[in-house]
Amino acid sequence: MSQEQGDLYKTSAGDVYVLPLGHGSVQIRWDGKTIQVDPYSAVAEYETLPKADLVLITHDHYDHLDKKAWSATQKEDTVFIASPSSAKELPQGAIALSNGDSTQWQGITIDAVPAYNMVHKQPNGKFWHPKGWGNGYVLHFGDFRLYLAGDTENIPEMAKIAGVDVAFMPKNLPYTMTDEMFVDAAKRLKPKVLYPYHYETVDKIKLQSAVGKDTVIK
Ligand code: ZN
Ligand code: ZN
Repeated sequence: MSQEQGDLYKTSAGDVYVLPLGHGSVQIRWDGKTIQVDPYSAVAEYETLPKADLVLITHDHYDHLDKKAWSATQKEDTVFIASPSSAKELPQGAIALSNGDSTQWQGITIDAVPAYNMVHKQPNGKFWHPKGWGNGYVLHFGDFRLYLAGDTENIPEMAKIAGVDVAFMPKNLPYTMTDEMFVDAAKRLKPKVLYPYHYETVDKIKLQSAVGKDTVIK
């Protein structure tokens, strides 16, 4: 059986297959390699999926940094890229990227970008995701850009990422974005294709009509 599952995007660096696995987890296949983003054992049986050549972790919350899932997807030479605090939780070692850092992996450029709350707080008054703690990631496959927003709100830094080809953006309360925040972020980001992720329920028809036809909601 082919390991290529998901939506195919033709890029200057070759075919990229994007498979949303549920919640904040995404599988990306490119050039025979597998990238697992925030693997989470509640949404997929990683034993049955291709082992990861690269694992990207956005932040420390249990639904993003899940030992059961990363243990199941890793092999001997798996590379881990993580936020600084998540990297400390990975005993096998990880490349720690802070907001604004970039690295190269197998010819792909990976940018760590901000992901944080401006409005939504925990009952103790602290933000669920304080600024500078977690990462979103932008992956450059040649001139094709794929943005994985992580757990964030419609932050001003998204303006710098505008015009990406594919974006994943979270939409659930109280941790990430309301519908209104999501639509605002989508209009500023203007991705060609937008996947809502990290949600309990989503009305894609309503979001599509609010976002406009220049962005396709998957
Ligand atoms: Zn979180
Ligand atoms: Zn989360």
